[in-house]
Amino acid sequence: MKRYRNKSLRHRVLESYYYRTKLSHGDYRNLVDEIQGYRGELEYDAAMGELPAEFLVVNDLMVPYGKSQFQVDGLVGYGDTIIHHEVKNYTGTYVMGGDECVSEKGHRIDLYSQISSVNTRLYNLARRWGYRIKIISYTIFIHPEFQINGLDNDGRIVFAHLFPAHVRELLNNPLEPSTQVKGFLERLMDIDNLEYRPPDMPYYTDTRPGILCPHCHSFEKTGTRQTWGCGKCGFEEKVLDAIGRTVMEYHEIDPGVPITTQNAFHWCGGQFDKQQVRRALKKHFNQLENGRGTTYVRRLRSN
Ligand SMILES: [Zn+2]
Repeated sequence: MKRYRNKSLRHRVLESYYYRTKLSHGDYRNLVDEIQGYRGELEYDAAMGELPAEFLVVNDLMVPYGKSQFQVDGLVGYGDTIIHHEVKNYTGTYVMGGDECVSEKGHRIDLYSQISSVNTRLYNLARRWGYRIKIISYTIFIHPEFQINGLDNDGRIVFAHLFPAHVRELLNNPLEPSTQVKGFLERLMDIDNLEYRPPDMPYYTDTRPGILCPHCHSFEKTGTRQTWGCGKCGFEEKVLDAIGRTVMEYHEIDPGVPITTQNAFHWCGGQFDKQQVRRALKKHFNQLENGRGTTYVRRLRSN
């Protein structure tokens, strides 16, 4: 099934802008939130990694639903049931006051609205497709320094210190997923929208071109004609691959700009000759001939 997880598109684009321009305060806050959320998801994946392959685990889906989409952090097929996990990496102490969950600074979170809406949507899809399954939803608060005082927990909230036991319970009582559950999970993966682009993506015009080291994000370059080397941390890769990923980075920032040799040459900071840039584009993208010359399009990812 689908156990991998990528940084979200918003995360990748904000990160790229962070190194290539000056982020607004709001976008910087959004980047910090993305990083925090992603770290939490990786923690979650590490814990769930204890479940062997016979457990059907599906991570990180963007499910089209009517005219909108909804995101699912993790699903486990378990007998005739799907266990649904939403992962939150919040920190700090919250207090229940009536039905409201509020932080010391007055920040309010709605504990059940997200799992409840995802649960309903999954249920409706299953029904529409003719699957008879149960779906149980949990919010996993994965950060150990998060607590809610005064919470009367009905079990739908799983705190970090309880999460290992939650996973162990599945591990110790394995249940083969039913044909219905398998079918539903496969269908969800089929419609997973890998190309989803949120409508409110950040956009900056003044970006610094060049190749960023994927490890230390330095622009400093050493290396030969064949090899791109990072002048700071020593990371090395083939020049064609360094060009390919930089073009992909610019394409994600603004998919409206056509991928041409001239544009790619500029995005990479003008440091390679055009023949090399063209070879890199041929290696990593599909060629498209039209009346006005050659452009390139990205290859669709497959699961
Ligand atoms: Zn580096």
